[in-house]
Amino acid sequence: MPLSDRYSILFEPIRLGPKWAKNRFWQTPHASGFGSDHPSSQAKYRETKAEGGWGVVFTEATSIAPEVDKSPAPLARLWDDGDVRNLRCVAESIQKHGALAGIELEYHSSIGYMTEGRGLLARGVDPVPGDSALAVPYAGSLVELEVEDIEELKQLHVESALRAKEAGFDLITLHCGHAASLLAHFLIPYYNTRTDEYGGSFENRIRFTRETLHAVREAVGNDVAVGMRFGVDTLDAPFGLGDRGIRQDGEAPQFIEAMDDLVDYWDLVIGGFDWAQDAQSSRTAAENHEAKYVAHLKSHTAKPVVNVGRFNSPDTMVDVINSGQCDIIGAARAAISDPFLPEKVRSGSIEDIRECIGCNICVSRDIGMGRIQCTQNATIGEEFRRGWNPELFIPAANKENDVLVIGSGPAGMECAMVLGKRGLRNVHLVDSASVLGGSINWVSKLPGRHEWRRLIEYREHQLSKLKNVEVILNAEFNAEEALDYGAGIIIAATGSYYTHNAIDPHSREPFGFDTVCAGKVLTPEQILRDDAFVGRRVLVVDADGYFMGPGLAELLAKNDHQVTLVTRGEHIGEYLRYTRESSATLRDLYALNVEMLTQTMARPSASGGVRLTSPLGEEVREFDSIVLVGPRVPEDGIYKGLRRTRDLWAENEISAVYRIGDSVRPHLIAEAIFSGHRLAREIDNSNPALPLPFIRERRIIGTESEELAFEAAALSVRS
Ligand code: SF4
Repeated sequence: MPLSDRYSILFEPIRLGPKWAKNRFWQTPHASGFGSDHPSSQAKYRETKAEGGWGVVFTEATSIAPEVDKSPAPLARLWDDGDVRNLRCVAESIQKHGALAGIELEYHSSIGYMTEGRGLLARGVDPVPGDSALAVPYAGSLVELEVEDIEELKQLHVESALRAKEAGFDLITLHCGHAASLLAHFLIPYYNTRTDEYGGSFENRIRFTRETLHAVREAVGNDVAVGMRFGVDTLDAPFGLGDRGIRQDGEAPQFIEAMDDLVDYWDLVIGGFDWAQDAQSSRTAAENHEAKYVAHLKSHTAKPVVNVGRFNSPDTMVDVINSGQCDIIGAARAAISDPFLPEKVRSGSIEDIRECIGCNICVSRDIGMGRIQCTQNATIGEEFRRGWNPELFIPAANKENDVLVIGSGPAGMECAMVLGKRGLRNVHLVDSASVLGGSINWVSKLPGRHEWRRLIEYREHQLSKLKNVEVILNAEFNAEEALDYGAGIIIAATGSYYTHNAIDPHSREPFGFDTVCAGKVLTPEQILRDDAFVGRRVLVVDADGYFMGPGLAELLAKNDHQVTLVTRGEHIGEYLRYTRESSATLRDLYALNVEMLTQTMARPSASGGVRLTSPLGEEVREFDSIVLVGPRVPEDGIYKGLRRTRDLWAENEISAVYRIGDSVRPHLIAEAIFSGHRLAREIDNSNPALPLPFIRERRIIGTESEELAFEAAALSVRS
């Protein structure tokens, strides 16, 4: 289908100083977990975005000198010729698809990240523009800059920019955002307490950035574009910097005007202590949520402006450009969830876009210093080591097989979809429910989780297009019926369930509520799926440590219940710290008067009440309902039943039985989808139950690089 007129503006080339971007899709700098030490993984990861049509593709924030190393975070470095060689491979991989390759240079400053240690590799000191007595123990050793040091720092920026140019990058962004870099710290009064010509007045606080930008431009010449990622608002206290920060209606417009002659483009972001304010989840941030901070700033510059803000919809993208808010659509998560988003818009395949659900599992992997992962896109991060491409499915060697997939939750849908795309003769996806989607149907009823339904909607649409896949709903199955079904391969995707008599993962004994408080105990399914009656005084016992416990507490409090939320963990919804949803969740629960007790053990008391034990003491309380959240139990009856009848498989022409997702081990939705995807990608290997080995990008003593290439070539014959 040809490009619709409506979206044509997204494909208009745009000039960025000496360079032209072919369209308005800009994959912003974001962590991948590969840095510059895993160049092939990094290159293939970024290349896939370029292949998918993103006109500009950036690396992540790149450390410019050993003294600002962010280890153990696996970010990129550009310290020497070795890093140049590794990152050149990344730039070339991006450019071969007609995209511009960008690099974000950062002199990271640890006092911007109050919760992160840094420099664990170099163990150096951290220069700051202000008072070094403000050091916090875990933020590194601070040292106040002398004027001579400032000259050296400018030179470090110049040298790294020259290395970026040598590596072949088209665009060099200097990071002055997220209150995290030295450039930002010179600008922001909260950090800059100097009284010399680099501190005090606005003119003095921008001096370092102007001089650095000027020096970088002089050094790299006229064939590389130089731009700035600028944090236009450091937000309100306590998680922002308040009046001592930068405000969109304060010094931000002034800063843009003062630097405009020295940049070729602006990449505008927000955020104070926490960069993830820029990457809020769908629980708190709607698409284009940064408009209120950035929309008016384009009028202060003559240069192209990039905006971010959970952009997913091509219609919204068109609207923000037509409205004059920005010129270019910046996105990290939309490009992670669907690296081929631009190509799908260009070819009129809007319905095939795998929209980001805003769950922030990708962010959690960055915070957790791991390799990138995505709930929607199981292939992300697997481009090099497993050779997966999100849009490429090789016909299966055993495609003359009929497959029965039992269970249409996220794992089952994903598995059936990939099997269908790999051309298996007949794929039947069956479920006892009347709709596809399994647990997502009721999980998405939690406050702020409605966008998670996109997990169903994307797959439902894909399944509907596959002629070799049939969806059969309202079909109860047991092991005997599966055995008789006539499929050569059977895959159990039967999920998991919360139970009344769950095992406490800490004590490894049953909680015991079902025996003492019988009739009062509820599971999340009963509330969200079955609309069970819940008494006024509710105790939510969270042994799960993620979104379900806090989400149910919020829902029940909104429905006028008096809610107490307890966890043995040190934090409410422990994993929410990684998805960067913790602060907003606590704020919302406080506002709803939810009582939150951490490091608290809940046990039934003989009186029928609940004994709450914490480091502060012990008390017995009465509740009308007790909601037990986790751990979940695999629903593996059909799988185990089939395994028990193994001697009947041959006469029923069954060659294999597998299980995927939560029916193996209850886990994140992302893991369930990955499990289904992985099995389908490897269904024609000798033992699909076990993942194939993947390339570990590492140094092997005595190994030549050609051997790695050989290993990669072996992967290319895989699905
Ligand atoms: Fe979006 Fe979630 Fe994927 Fe991140 S992990 S890109 S938030 S769907």
